[in-house]
Amino acid sequence: MKHDLIIEAIDVVKHFGDGGNWLSKSPVVQAVDGVSLQVRRGETFAIVGESGCGKSTLARVLMRLLSPTSGSVLFDGKEVSTTTGAALQSLRREMQFIFQDPFSSLNPRMTVGKLVGEPLEVHAPELSAQQRREKVADLLRKVGLRAEYAGRYPHEFSGGQRQRIGIARALASGPRLIIGDEPVSALDVSVQAQVINLLGDLSRDMGLTLVVIAHDLGVIRHMSDRVAVMYLGRIVESGTTEEVYTSPRHPYTKALLASIPTMGGKQGDRKATVLGEMPSPSAPPSGCRFHTRCPYAQAKCKTDAPALQGAGTDDHQVACHFWETIPNEAVIAETPQKTEAVEARFALYRNATDGGTVTHLLNQSTKRN
Ligand code: SF4
Repeated sequence: MKHDLIIEAIDVVKHFGDGGNWLSKSPVVQAVDGVSLQVRRGETFAIVGESGCGKSTLARVLMRLLSPTSGSVLFDGKEVSTTTGAALQSLRREMQFIFQDPFSSLNPRMTVGKLVGEPLEVHAPELSAQQRREKVADLLRKVGLRAEYAGRYPHEFSGGQRQRIGIARALASGPRLIIGDEPVSALDVSVQAQVINLLGDLSRDMGLTLVVIAHDLGVIRHMSDRVAVMYLGRIVESGTTEEVYTSPRHPYTKALLASIPTMGGKQGDRKATVLGEMPSPSAPPSGCRFHTRCPYAQAKCKTDAPALQGAGTDDHQVACHFWETIPNEAVIAETPQKTEAVEARFALYRNATDGGTVTHLLNQSTKRN
């Protein structure tokens, strides 16, 4: 089936380091190694995996903040990995980034009005100072903040409010695609739900496409349409969120899902946990990169790298030689479709909001955050 794609990665490789020379060796870090993915217009696409799996590097390559070592990134069908000059400036307007740490990504010496208005100066120089102030006020209201906050500085706000300022700044240039690198992981759990709901509402109301990088599969389930799971620089499973969460096929995905904490329990209580540490991306294992931690590894896994292959539906793909024979019940039988812990977060939000519009309710909640 042909889909309307906004961004596409084709066999993207990003290595850091040059291997050194005859005098000294410096390892080549294989952060991203042959990743292909397609993001459809208007959807929320999540890229998940443990810290060090390469997901943040991939996000920066998609954003053209890093150039790939090889491979292609197409935005609206046009190659962007080699874009420079005016074309790159125009691309920056279309694609925006939300950073993990809302505090360090905002200049503490600039007022909120200046922070949110700065992209307008670059991308909409035709606006008068008054028009720019009005636009900033409008953007602040859109993300649930008061227009009068424009005169304050970042340190005067809570983490949740600072992330909303970051989102307002990202929206200022009128992007069509926003990539969020762990956009809520630095926030308290009760505030995470508010920011996730805000992103969902903005995406729907403004027709935005979201790509969200995360390690928390519990939260991702509530906000994404499709998911790609990364391990050591490669995608090991992808599909609709429903497919990946209810019928995970890769042992790594199963283990990640089984390790989501539950109410009254703790991480690791479940039957499947990922064994040991992730190997270094400068010396990844041969064959299937997961074989050093996989309880189902066989001889073939050490020598042959599995390709992504169909796992039952058009969308669902898995990179495992033996996915059809790996038992499901041992690892996911106890995994609820939506964990109680995550449900509790959202219940917190729903109770606080009592069914009103998000913007209105966030205005209320900002008093508490
Ligand atoms: Fe495990 Fe082998 Fe499948 Fe890799 S290919 S996930 S090592 S069973």
